[in-house]
Amino acid sequence: MILIVAEHAGGKLGKSTLEMVTAARESGREGPITLLVLGQGVAGVAKEAAAVADQVLVADLPGLAQYNAEVWAAATAQIAQEGEASTVIIGGSRSGREYAPRVAVKLDAPYLEDATKLSSNGAALQAQRYTYLARVTETVEADGLVVVTVKPGSFAPASPATAAGEEYDVEVTLPASRVEVTGKSVEKSSRVALTEADVIVTGGRGVGSPENFSAYVEGLADAIGAGVGATRAVVDAGWRPYAEQVGQTGKTVQPKAYIALGVSGAVQHLSGMGKSKHIIAINKDADAPIFKVADYGIVGDVNAIVPALIEAAKQ
Ligand code: FAD
Repeated sequence: MILIVAEHAGGKLGKSTLEMVTAARESGREGPITLLVLGQGVAGVAKEAAAVADQVLVADLPGLAQYNAEVWAAATAQIAQEGEASTVIIGGSRSGREYAPRVAVKLDAPYLEDATKLSSNGAALQAQRYTYLARVTETVEADGLVVVTVKPGSFAPASPATAAGEEYDVEVTLPASRVEVTGKSVEKSSRVALTEADVIVTGGRGVGSPENFSAYVEGLADAIGAGVGATRAVVDAGWRPYAEQVGQTGKTVQPKAYIALGVSGAVQHLSGMGKSKHIIAINKDADAPIFKVADYGIVGDVNAIVPALIEAAKQ
């Protein structure tokens, strides 16, 4: 089987899980696509998972109420071993990249990190990933049982209701955890999360100031119900939080429309949003690299164009 560890939050299957299902389908590896749902009170998640996978394995236990690397690694390795998995796919989120290497060690399997493409080369699993500041795309492969993490936003999400998988409860032996989560504070935002958004408005240094960012980038995003992104230049300048950074060292996104305001289009930024379905750019420099990937472009000053766009969107 191809074992995918489902990512979920608030009782809902994450978009990243649907992306991992596509990755599994494209991998050409043997066996049924199997989603492993770890958590407590996850019946709803399991039902959603069954609509995209050949089978769903559910471990619903109080000991799985909170994510914990040691526990997740032990449970995943145990299920992979028992099910004689050909491949274990884990999300390339912060937590995924924390426990995936532990799973590989427990299974004595090779580990491929941050795959943006998966395929088979005979018996080997082949993965593409970025390296050298995303200037180079590297192809790596490994035989036999492979553990792989998938870079979020790199695969199109599988459409729901494309399968009718069976659900099975599984027993897992959980180790005592040596790390305890002692507090959590959740940032509240009425805006759609960056990685879940169909439309993203991103601001770069060309927007001019934090005040302009609020007025233009957030203003346009709110007028059209979009998520907000930022370049690293803007995050480094302290205008915006790191959570909004798009690019090699930020989030990878693949929305239906990506609107870039005052963004130059550096290669490290493009590696995080280049697969967006439609890219729309406004930049005053006609030679800015962003125009090489844009489907629609306006050469002009954001200060003049965006207020008119917001007004039009409101109407
Ligand atoms: P700039 O490059 O300064 O571009 C500003 C643009 O705005 C220019 O094209 C200019 O013509 C235009 N402009 C100026 N005024 C106006 C106006 N009034 N109206 C319209 N247009 C205007 N960057 C990321 O974004 N994400 C990453 O994850 C990331 N990771 C990195 C990792 C490494 C290891 C390194 C070395 C760099 C990384 N970078 C990343 C930085 C990246 O190389 C660029 O420096 C950054 O993306 C530039 O941000 P920017 O486009 O906002 O700024």
